[in-house]
Amino acid sequence: MKPSGAVSLSSSTRPSHGFFKFLNIFNFSKKDSLKTPPSEGGVFKEGGAGGAVSSEELPLLPLRELVLFPNTTLPLFITYKAGIAAVDEALKGGRRLFAACLRDTADNAIYPVGTVARVTQYLKLSDGSYRVVLQGEYRARLNAILEKRDPLMVFVAPISAEDGGDESVQPVVSALMRSVQKSFTQYAEFTKKAGPETLLAVEKSESAEYLSNLICHAIHIKPEKKAELLGIMGVQERLEKLLETLEIENEIFGFILREQLKEINKELGEDAGASDEAAEIEKILEAKNPGAEVLEKARKEIARLRKLQQLSPESGVIRAYLEWLSDLPWNETSGNSVDLVQAEKILNEDHYAMKKAKERILEFVAVRKLAGEQGRKTGGDEEEKRAEISQGTVRLAIKGPILCFVGPPGTGKTSLCASIARCLGRNFVRMSLGGVRDEAEIRGHRKTYVGALPGKIIQSMRKAGSVNPVFLLDEIDKISSDVLRGDPASALLEVLDPEQNSAFMDHYLEVPYDLSKVLFIATANSLHTIPYPLIDRMEIIEIAGYGENEKLAIAKKFLIPKQLASNGLADANIVFRDDAVREIIRHWTMESGVRGLEREIARCVRRLARRAVDFLKADKASSDTPEIETSHPESGEISADPSEAQDNPADILHNQAQKLKNFKKVVKKADLGRLLNKRKYKDDVVFKEAHIGVSYGLAWTETGGVILPVETICFAGSGDLIFTGNVGDVMKESGRIALSYIRSVQPKYGFKQNMSKTDFHIHVPEGAIPKDGPSAGITLAASLLSSLIGKPPARRVVMTGELTLTGRVLPIGGLKEKLLAAVRSGMEWVLLPAGNQEDWDDVDADIRGALSAEFVEKADDAFRALFEGGDAA
Ligand code: ADP
Repeated sequence: MKPSGAVSLSSSTRPSHGFFKFLNIFNFSKKDSLKTPPSEGGVFKEGGAGGAVSSEELPLLPLRELVLFPNTTLPLFITYKAGIAAVDEALKGGRRLFAACLRDTADNAIYPVGTVARVTQYLKLSDGSYRVVLQGEYRARLNAILEKRDPLMVFVAPISAEDGGDESVQPVVSALMRSVQKSFTQYAEFTKKAGPETLLAVEKSESAEYLSNLICHAIHIKPEKKAELLGIMGVQERLEKLLETLEIENEIFGFILREQLKEINKELGEDAGASDEAAEIEKILEAKNPGAEVLEKARKEIARLRKLQQLSPESGVIRAYLEWLSDLPWNETSGNSVDLVQAEKILNEDHYAMKKAKERILEFVAVRKLAGEQGRKTGGDEEEKRAEISQGTVRLAIKGPILCFVGPPGTGKTSLCASIARCLGRNFVRMSLGGVRDEAEIRGHRKTYVGALPGKIIQSMRKAGSVNPVFLLDEIDKISSDVLRGDPASALLEVLDPEQNSAFMDHYLEVPYDLSKVLFIATANSLHTIPYPLIDRMEIIEIAGYGENEKLAIAKKFLIPKQLASNGLADANIVFRDDAVREIIRHWTMESGVRGLEREIARCVRRLARRAVDFLKADKASSDTPEIETSHPESGEISADPSEAQDNPADILHNQAQKLKNFKKVVKKADLGRLLNKRKYKDDVVFKEAHIGVSYGLAWTETGGVILPVETICFAGSGDLIFTGNVGDVMKESGRIALSYIRSVQPKYGFKQNMSKTDFHIHVPEGAIPKDGPSAGITLAASLLSSLIGKPPARRVVMTGELTLTGRVLPIGGLKEKLLAAVRSGMEWVLLPAGNQEDWDDVDADIRGALSAEFVEKADDAFRALFEGGDAA
């Protein structure tokens, strides 16, 4: 039976079996049997396919299991009679023929839509067969079969715009084209059969007809399907069919690939691999003896892992989790020798001074050794404790196992912790809390989060590798909290609370972790920003800044040798004179700690290192002791000496060390300009001169003490008080108190201004820096009074103290830092509240030697000292 939609050529002749690999064709012998076929509704039209081509009479080339599409080429080997005859005929005329696919071999039916093609290349072989290359030109419908001739001559009409074969720019068509292009790209990825040129042509294609033809040609589907795609008239319909075909193919390929992957995984023995790995992890964990709860959890996860495919994302998550469990220390300890004599020796070896801190540490170590952990201080009034802290008058007492070093930067807090680890023989790990604002950073994310990790505490414990490291919580005062992301401080509470930290819960770990053997030490620049419950769990140890003599000693004993060693000059004969180091301290640094000093010394040493390289190169050895010069020619490498090149590296180093011994330098005050360029801090003339309305206070900051100049002018007005210089509310209040007090004592000081008609402008320079606090009260009052009486305060006098409305001067905190700032700035006198007398007695002798202190109970005492002395300018 003839399939519908096909044109019957003949059923009288059985097919010959002279098939060629590419083409299977029948031997059409009974041309008379061919009749004009019924059309499928396609109308014969002149000027179809864009109007350039009209209907034509062409030889018919029947193709079996092959469909030729326009805009594509098809190489063929034609061995059958009908084909040879068609090519013969084509070659006689315009080389063109009509190629149509055979649908039914039994009754020689062909599809009514085929492709008009040109024979672009041919080769006739001796047996009469042809090798040809056909170039498809346009789709055409077979309208009539002409009887007479051999080959079959047919009448074909191009598929015209009315047939729907024309291009369309409708949005639906454009959208369909894009989908087809995408689907084809996926198809090409699966099959790897489309070449890059095809892919490019498909991607660039702007015509629906062209695109369909290209893809129909490129895909590997049954010829019936191809013929069907060739025969669809409407552009949209054709694209839809093509898309459907591509999607089905892609789905089939996807399925096949997945199945193949499964097979491959099986063959690779993946399951065995997974269980091996799991068994390995289980073994490691069992050996670590982390406790029943952890083991149980791990085994549960291992069982889940075994059920999963190795490449599945979930198995990756579980594997990472198990690795964390097995990497963490559960029982391993680092040495815990508590030989107090040895510990003291190590502390002294690493750090100069810090007497109080060292004593505390030794005490602490001893207490830990003897009595274990002590309960923390409970009860007491919260407000009272806060006040103590804000005034810096917290009394140190061992009340908990966690130490917190508080002091300005560069005072050796961090390095002291490393020393403690050294004296206890424990591992040391540091975790910076600066900028931590998310609770998850401390406690981790649940492992269901993408890329989840344990929190910093657990990460640090893995780094530490033992359950009892010295654990530094650096910059605990810089921790911030965020309403949305939880409070990291509350997570820290759990870490630092000895009653809870034996079962610290990390969100990622999901099992409790014992932190009770860890020796936590925190550092902070100030206590103000640390939540009270945290402070309550720590033992505060204040580390004060250093005076000039202390800095000199630290530089000579620690910083200079350290820098010489780290710059390769340990063997050189380099000496820094004391006056040079003092000069660096005074004019290149302005700090409480020694970090800046260390940096400047490092700069000097680096410059000297360049000179040393020149010295070695010049090979002057023994006799020469050259002076330091300003010029620093670019140095070569030390090993550039050809005589050394032959020696082995150990010899070279030895020789070099020997030669360096002869490199002698004495760094004098006069050399500093050349080594460090110009001074960073001049002798501050501002502080040395006296001006009307200008008084000098002392302020405490996180980075140490500073001088706080206060300027006041008064002018006719209406009794207003203006403040500038980024002054906080508390300081503004102090200003108002000072003004009210001054008004109340007008008769005593005899100034004539009408206070209700005088305005005051108080300015605190360096306006970019926020300033606040009550301790500037007396300074503000002195500045106001000076502007009113028109007399400057005595020169080089600096003061601090909170002023009350009735003129009392109250004590202040942070005295040592403030005094250090006074000395650094070249002040000679200091007016202090009488309530700070005891603190003054505690201050180092060299600071007390550098300053004359006057203790005042009332503002009037201070004014007397400031304005009645003979020192006023
Ligand atoms: P901080 O943690 O207080 O900011 P660091 O511990 O980082 O300060 O110290 C900065 C540098 O100063 C380090 O090289 C340290 O060794 C050195 N240093 C500070 N104080 C002393 C000291 N008392 N003795 C020896 N070196 C010190």
